[in-house]
Amino acid sequence: MFTYEHEVSHEWQRRHTLRELKRGHMPIDVACDADFLLRAAAQHHGVESSRPCPVCGGAMRDVRWVYSEKLGRRTGTARSEAEIDRLAAEVGALTVHIVEVCPSCKWNHLLQEVTAVPVV
Ligand SMILES: [Zn+2]
Repeated sequence: MFTYEHEVSHEWQRRHTLRELKRGHMPIDVACDADFLLRAAAQHHGVESSRPCPVCGGAMRDVRWVYSEKLGRRTGTARSEAEIDRLAAEVGALTVHIVEVCPSCKWNHLLQEVTAVPVV
């Protein structure tokens, strides 16, 4: 069991990026630049997003990336909630970045940074 704490939302940056995109102040390939690795991670480790893609309206996936010095080589990898649960139990608190990814148009954005804390 774990719980998410210290939530940092990046909704404002998301809205800002979308506004810049709509106004033509940002090239689409800058905002929609999910590389193969990110799209594959979203496919294999992500979950269905509750929102449609803000650029193309397609179905998106939310993927969670874990970070901790204690994870060694496993830091910076995409993980499911079940895996995050096991990792938090093993090494303690983890930083988790939740990124939305659109496999169709390659839109991607960091939504939230949270700390996964094991519940004892
Ligand atoms: Zn899209």
